[in-house]
Amino acid sequence: MLPPRLSGRSRRKAGENAVKARQERAKVKEMITNGEIFFFDLFGDERKSVKRMKMIDLLTAVPGIGKTRAELIIGRTGISPSRRIGGVGKRQLELLRQEFLLIKNSRKPGKLLVVSGPSGVGKSTITNQLRTDDRFWISISVTTRKIRTGETNAVDYQFVSDEDFAKMVQKNEFLEWADFAGAKYGTPRRSVEEALASGKNVILEIELNGARQVRKNSKEAVLIFIEPPSWEELTTRLINRGTESEHSTQARLERAKEELSAAAEFDHIVINHQVEQSVAELVSLALR
Ligand code: 5GP
Repeated sequence: MLPPRLSGRSRRKAGENAVKARQERAKVKEMITNGEIFFFDLFGDERKSVKRMKMIDLLTAVPGIGKTRAELIIGRTGISPSRRIGGVGKRQLELLRQEFLLIKNSRKPGKLLVVSGPSGVGKSTITNQLRTDDRFWISISVTTRKIRTGETNAVDYQFVSDEDFAKMVQKNEFLEWADFAGAKYGTPRRSVEEALASGKNVILEIELNGARQVRKNSKEAVLIFIEPPSWEELTTRLINRGTESEHSTQARLERAKEELSAAAEFDHIVINHQVEQSVAELVSLALR
């Protein structure tokens, strides 16, 4: 059957609508790739342009699904690659869900990243920038140090008594632990292992002895050392931070000399001239 003849005006209108629909589809694909919307949410989307999207185009927009994987999924679910998403049935949708679950469960474990460096160098400021980045998970350490003004329990640290810390050591609950300037600090093993298994890149912000323990137990860990631009700059930062007593500041500066001389033991060194730049370097080291 021949398509109906269109007047000039109707043809122009149809052309404009087609362009608009194409733009809408491109926008949807971009949003899926950026993680702003989720694949399965689109199946309830009533927009005509969305309903007319092809399965193959939509699948390949999902982060982590390339053409080969998309074809594999399509083959296993029996959905035609040119099938419009508005035409996918309930049973096929369920099969798709199972495929996505399989992908999630077979995801590569994340990397273990150790960020170390002298007290006052800016490690927390750098790692804090990655808290909202869902590729990363920042471990919350356990410590016997006194809570500082502005800190929150279970957010900055899990603050515990000496006795509770000792019990955790005894039960082998730490991946590593160390003494630092009169207090104890440790990384809880279980939460780190769970985060790694779920595919997150885990960041441990810890001092030198802890970093050495991680190196000894895990050859795959990536050790990153944050260096100050100069010794003077480090001293000024630590003093201006105003979080420590005179005694603790001195203890930290003494330790800083020792830590700085161990920089060569690390896989990478990042000089913290500027926070954004250091964060960018850390991300690129983590993801390569
Ligand atoms: P602050 O008292 O300034 O928060 O931390 C003192 C030092 O302890 C910093 O160098 C920090 O990176 C380190 N630290 C924090 N948590 C841990 C941990 O779980 N293990 C080890 N070994 N060091 C930690």
